[in-house]
Amino acid sequence: MDNNLNNEDEKCPKCGSDLGELAVAPTGSKLRRCSKGSWDAQTRTATGCNFVKWYPLDPTPLDEKCPKCGSPLVLAVTRFGKKMKKCSKGGWDKVERKATGCDYIEWINGTTEPLSETCPECKSPLVLFTTTTGKRMKKCSTGGWDKVKKEATGCTFVQWLKPGEMVNTNTGEENLPPEN
Ligand SMILES: [Zn+2]
Ligand SMILES: [Zn+2]
Ligand SMILES: [Zn+2]
Repeated sequence: MDNNLNNEDEKCPKCGSDLGELAVAPTGSKLRRCSKGSWDAQTRTATGCNFVKWYPLDPTPLDEKCPKCGSPLVLAVTRFGKKMKKCSKGGWDKVERKATGCDYIEWINGTTEPLSETCPECKSPLVLFTTTTGKRMKKCSTGGWDKVKKEATGCTFVQWLKPGEMVNTNTGEENLPPEN
């Protein structure tokens, strides 16, 4: 296991410097950056060493039962903020690269996060919307959908993001380079 949070003496595998302090991304994921690296919010680029060590999130127990086997469900969040309910009996065999135990998973509906950008059309704040399938778009916070009339309400500004495209959320933590 390499997720011992108390191991302060850990070194960056890229450059050998000490790792920085434990930080928490908006998704709740814990991470430690290389102390020789930093994120420049102005130029939106990583400077120095870009190593980031991510820690897996602890799943939250839910008060629901798995429809397949009756075991308790847990709420798990991926590093990119995708949420899912999964069976507490389910696991992942890293060596065999296959699911073990019960394979019940239920993805939870899309999530929105505030962005530090404003809508080019109406100057309202933009939000980052992540669909259940992990596609992301920037949309205007005043925009909505009238389910009865089946038509868009408010401002209709939407900009889909390419996979892996980075956006500037309020804290900047989402801009961290991917784990490698
Ligand atoms: Zn480093
Ligand atoms: Zn199950
Ligand atoms: Zn707008």
